[in-house]
Amino acid sequence: MEDVATASNDAAAEERENKFLTIAIEEAYKAVESGDGRPFGAVIVRDDEIVASCHNMVVRNTDPSAHAEITAIREACRKLNKVQLSDCEIYASCEPCPMCYGAILFSKFKRVVYAARAEVAIALGVGSDSADAMKHSRFYEKVNMEIKKAEDPLTIMDDSTSAANATSNVLEVKDETISVASAFPGHQEAVKDRDHKFLTKAVEEAYKGVECGDGGPFGAVVVRNDEVVVSCHNMVLRNTDPTAHAEVTAIREACQKLNQIELADCEIYASCEPCPMCFGAIHLSRIKRLVYGAKAEAAIAIGFDDFIADALRGTGFYQKAQLEIKKADGSGAVIAEQVFEKTKEKFTLY
Ligand SMILES: [Zn+2]
Ligand SMILES: [Zn+2]
Repeated sequence: MEDVATASNDAAAEERENKFLTIAIEEAYKAVESGDGRPFGAVIVRDDEIVASCHNMVVRNTDPSAHAEITAIREACRKLNKVQLSDCEIYASCEPCPMCYGAILFSKFKRVVYAARAEVAIALGVGSDSADAMKHSRFYEKVNMEIKKAEDPLTIMDDSTSAANATSNVLEVKDETISVASAFPGHQEAVKDRDHKFLTKAVEEAYKGVECGDGGPFGAVVVRNDEVVVSCHNMVLRNTDPTAHAEVTAIREACQKLNQIELADCEIYASCEPCPMCFGAIHLSRIKRLVYGAKAEAAIAIGFDDFIADALRGTGFYQKAQLEIKKADGSGAVIAEQVFEKTKEKFTLY
């Protein structure tokens, strides 16, 4: 008897799952038909109700972070008026990219179900090139969340593409950053001063964010040539948007301002080492250079999730990104790390 009951429960669960995955897949088609973006869809479900059903909006919104999952998360949070979705599940037509996984983690979903593997999208040239970012990292293991890959027939793209046998090699750990090449000593000093100036601005933004109660103590500045394009801080609380980290906010605003979805001629200065979601957004926006102040551990020390630090280390993500990454040293690092000590009494963790 018990077996029969279990079997019918399983069948019902599968049917329920297929229903929501099908809607996510329909969204993926809609994205392309409407010209809004690429073929990806995502549906957020609470109990048995759909809270948000969205597709990729990168082109429509001129926003490289407007993947289906992130668009759905923002919409659901706005609708439910909270920054955590721990009572929700998310269904995605395709395996979420690192940026979206980061967003899913920050939103505290209890469950993720996806249909196609990322490799399928990559094989067709429509996916991000960072499918393996999370594999071989502790990202998967650390999350308190069920992650499920749908069984076959629902895949939106032909899942038999065998780029799939992606038993990618474990890449070497690379926890040191790449330093700036210097032509001559004077040049190096000038670069240092310039970096220090913009980094200081990012740090000031971090303080500002906390003072106005907009979110956590993080700031980011996007620079083109020698001009600040935008200067932003964490807006998670202000916007009821778990994806509104300083870096993502800065990328969104810079893209809007410059009316382009790529920032290949820009640099980004962050007060703290970007989390996986932000690093994913930086990578997707093709920013050419990242300079950051504090190490992620400084944020973790005052209570931020520890997955923000080690998710990317030991993966191929850093190595693959066509991006110069520089960790500030000396006084730049000090002023950036002080942010956390000085603000920790002033905000609540969300
Ligand atoms: Zn994504
Ligand atoms: Zn972030």
